[in-house]
Amino acid sequence: MRPSPFLAHKDLYLVTMTTFDGLGLVEPLRLALKAENYLKPTPIQVRTIPLLAEGKDLLGIAETGTGKTAAFALPILQRLSLERLPRTPGAPHALILAPTRELAGQIAERFGVYGRRLPLRTAVIFGGVNQHHQVKALKAGVDILIATPGRLLDLCTQRHVRLDKVSILVLDEADRMLDMGFIRDVQKIVSLCRRDRQTLLFSATMPPQIAKLAHDILNDPVRVDITPPKVAVDRISQRVFFVGAKEKRALLENLLTDRSMDRVLVFTRTKRGADRVCRNLVQSGLSAVALHGNKAQNARVRALEAFRSGEARILVATDIAARGIDVPGISHVVNYELPNEPESYVHRIGRTARAGAEGAALSFCDQSERPYLQAIERLMRSTVSVGEHRLAVTPPAAPAARWQRPHGEAAAPAKPRRNRPRGRRFAGVQRSAPSSAKGERAFPIRGDLR
Ligand code: AMP
Repeated sequence: MRPSPFLAHKDLYLVTMTTFDGLGLVEPLRLALKAENYLKPTPIQVRTIPLLAEGKDLLGIAETGTGKTAAFALPILQRLSLERLPRTPGAPHALILAPTRELAGQIAERFGVYGRRLPLRTAVIFGGVNQHHQVKALKAGVDILIATPGRLLDLCTQRHVRLDKVSILVLDEADRMLDMGFIRDVQKIVSLCRRDRQTLLFSATMPPQIAKLAHDILNDPVRVDITPPKVAVDRISQRVFFVGAKEKRALLENLLTDRSMDRVLVFTRTKRGADRVCRNLVQSGLSAVALHGNKAQNARVRALEAFRSGEARILVATDIAARGIDVPGISHVVNYELPNEPESYVHRIGRTARAGAEGAALSFCDQSERPYLQAIERLMRSTVSVGEHRLAVTPPAAPAARWQRPHGEAAAPAKPRRNRPRGRRFAGVQRSAPSSAKGERAFPIRGDLR
C-alpha cells in the first residue's frame, strides 16, 4: 500500500475533526479552502478524505449538496501533487466521469478552485460542443480529466485520449448515468483504465445495476453512506397552492410581486413547458431564462450564468437539466408543475436552503396533479401546508380529503405505516419516521461488496 500523505485513519479519531487541519491536507489546499471560507469539513469529507489517502476504493452513497465533490477532489489533488507523475499528452492520471455537461463543468470548476495553488492541469470534456478546444487541452497534457462518457469514448476512439495511465477513477452520480443510458459506455471506459487503479463510485441511490457495477469494478471498497442532513429539509417552508391549470401563470406572476423572491427556480415537467413558462414571464416583464436538455450548450451556460449573477431573477428548468446544478442563494423553488416521481420533489426543493440558509418551496397543484401530491406526501410522511391566495381554489377541507383521487373516486384507505415506502434517502423529511428506521438501507448490498 502506498504511504499515506495524510494522518492515518485511526489517528483521525484522536485529533479534533472539526477543522481541515486535522485531515492533513497540504498547505496549498488548506489555503484554497480558507479562501473559499470552508471552515469545517462536511461529514462525507471527514470520512472519505483519510480513507482515500490510504488508497482504498470507495462506495459513497451521497448526493449533491453533501460536499462530495471536495471529498474526492481534495485527496486526488493532494495525491497527484505529491506523486508528481510526468505529464503525457492525452493521458490523464485521474479521470472523473459525470453524467451531464453541467455537472462535469461544475466539478472542473471546483478542481480549479481547490487546486489553484498546485501545479496540476485539469481539463473538462463533454458533448454538444466542438471538440477542437478539448483536443487542444488534451494534447497540451492534463493530470486530471473530467468527462461525460459519450464524448470521452468518442475522443478515445479518435485517439486523442488514452486511459492506460488512469490510476484514480471516479464515477460521480452513477445512478444518473444509469438513468441516462450510459452504463455500457461506463463499463467500456472502466475497462480502458489501469487495473491497479483506485476507484470511487458515488451514487445517491443503489439500484441493483449500480450495486452490480460497484461489485464488479470496486476492489474491497469502504462504504460511506451519507444521508442528506435532516435540517436541510426542515429549514424549507413548504406550501402547496391548489390552483386551476389555467390560473398557474397569473398565480406565479402574482406571487413574484413579492420582492423577497429574489432568486427563484421554477420547475416544469417538460422542456416545452419550461420554454412556455419562461416566455410568459418575459412577456410580463420579468427577467427569466430557461434551462433544459434541448438547449445548445452555450445557451445553457449563458442561462446559468445569468441566473448565478442575478441578471435573471428566475430560472425555469426541467428536473434533468437542474440536476446537480449548484447555485447558491436560491430563495424560492416553485413547482409550477408537480413532478410525477415523488423523489424529484425532494431533489427540487433541496435546491433552496443550501449552506445553512432558509428557503421556501411553493408548489402549484391542479386537479390532475393531486395523485402526485399524494405520492409526495406519502414519501415525506407529512402533509404540505396549504397556501392561501385569491387565485387558489378552496383547498380540500381535511387532510384525508387530499388523498382523494381526481374525478371524485373514493379515497384509497391509508396503508398501515409499516407497508409504506421507507424512503431511506430522504430521512430528512421523514419527520414522523420511527427512530429505528434511521440509517436503514433500501438495498442491502453490503454483503455483496465486502
Ligand atoms: P457538492 O455536494 O460537492 O455539490 O457541494 C455542495 C456545496 O457545498 C458546494 O457549493 C460546495 O462549494 C459547498 N461545500 C463543500 N464543502 C464545503 C465545506 N466544507 N464547507 C462549506 N461549503 C462546502
